[in-house]
Amino acid sequence: MTHRTARSAEAMKRAQTLIPGGVNSPVRAFRAVGGTPRFMTRGEGPYLYDLDGNRYIDYVLSWGPLILGHAHQAVVQAITEQTVRGTSYGAPTELESDLAALILSALPSMDLVRMVNSGTEATMSALRLARGFTGRSKIIKFIGCYHGHADSLLIRAGSGVATFSLPDSPGVPPEIAALTISLPYNDLAAVESAFAQFGEEIAAIIVEPVGGNMGMVPPKDGFLQGLRAVTQSYGALLIFDEVMTGFRVRFGGAQGYYGVKPDLTTLGKVIGGGLPVGAYGGRKDIMDLVAPAGPVYQAGTLSGNPLAVAAGLATLKTLATEGVYEGLEARSAQLVSTFLDAGKRYGFPVQGTFLGGMFGCFFAEHPVTDYESAAQSDKARYASYFHALLDRSVYLAPSHLEAGFVSLVHDDVVLAETCEAIDSAMRAIH
Ligand SMILES: *Cc1c(COP(=O)(O)O)cnc(C)c1O
Repeated sequence: MTHRTARSAEAMKRAQTLIPGGVNSPVRAFRAVGGTPRFMTRGEGPYLYDLDGNRYIDYVLSWGPLILGHAHQAVVQAITEQTVRGTSYGAPTELESDLAALILSALPSMDLVRMVNSGTEATMSALRLARGFTGRSKIIKFIGCYHGHADSLLIRAGSGVATFSLPDSPGVPPEIAALTISLPYNDLAAVESAFAQFGEEIAAIIVEPVGGNMGMVPPKDGFLQGLRAVTQSYGALLIFDEVMTGFRVRFGGAQGYYGVKPDLTTLGKVIGGGLPVGAYGGRKDIMDLVAPAGPVYQAGTLSGNPLAVAAGLATLKTLATEGVYEGLEARSAQLVSTFLDAGKRYGFPVQGTFLGGMFGCFFAEHPVTDYESAAQSDKARYASYFHALLDRSVYLAPSHLEAGFVSLVHDDVVLAETCEAIDSAMRAIH
């Protein structure tokens, strides 16, 4: 059943002489699971095709953006039509307002939104704005939450970083790291005591409203509501980083699902339909400080790029259909229950989580509620399982600390094939 990998191995050897570690983003290198990263040549629907001609059912989906699957016709058409009219103008377009209007209508906490080019830019800009608005410097983030790789946020930041045992990256000045308070996810008492100590200095809490970068870890009942209450009473801002969860768990994001209204929201991934995009937005009185409306500077040569905006618009319009998120969630539920059943059948302790088009599978004794419990899950067993599934043409994230994603084109046939592979992979590693 083992796939041919000679051409991928060859390509990796070449890439390593040209690009640090052979990849342009660390987790792609398979360091957490070992083996040869597959070099891809084509994506179509739920499938990825590699250099050696193998086909995989893809549950990484470019790490979340491809909620319609690869090369969806609406997205391809939108990009193609825009391309022939030019790829960038460096001047405003009506398309940008169309996308902004759609985003604002889906997320009522946002009165205004600014487009950027990545999730990293979105969170970095939201933090600057929060600091500019409050005149305070400290921020709270949660251990295992990833908010991109800006200096203030690259602290105890989950999957990619944690996988490589770089809890703090060299190059982040200690003076900057000292402004970030890192607390355990789902630990409201820790947040309250941090505010009791530093309340007047804290500009904002930034949080993934559903953890997705330590595997998938949902918020405990009352956690997000507690963050809302404590920030309000100390005059700090609450930032929901919905780069992963926005339009992924529900059309109205995690904030719509849990009914908690943040001051600022960051977006990315799905809203770009597979092109490089991010966005941040929120309350009008805060967003009015962003240049040129206000003094907090932030800019971008390719921000609001017409190709990315066209791809994002086509994606969101397709998602704005009755029953889409119920369908996505049913797929996630089926995958997780198959994983749990197979785990039990072959004697492995397993845990699973899902919401909308996002899911988590852990080899762990106890429910995963924070980074510590996620990191205690069995990394070696996950690596065996990952390779057993890869050999059966199912492509999961190459790390035990990543979430999985489904798309609208993972249909019953594809799911049935996946579920058979899950059982067979579990039997093989048992
Ligand atoms: C992916 C991600 C980011 C970073 O986005 P990039 O586009 O990779 O810079 C930030 N926050 C969360 C929650 C993410 O999942």
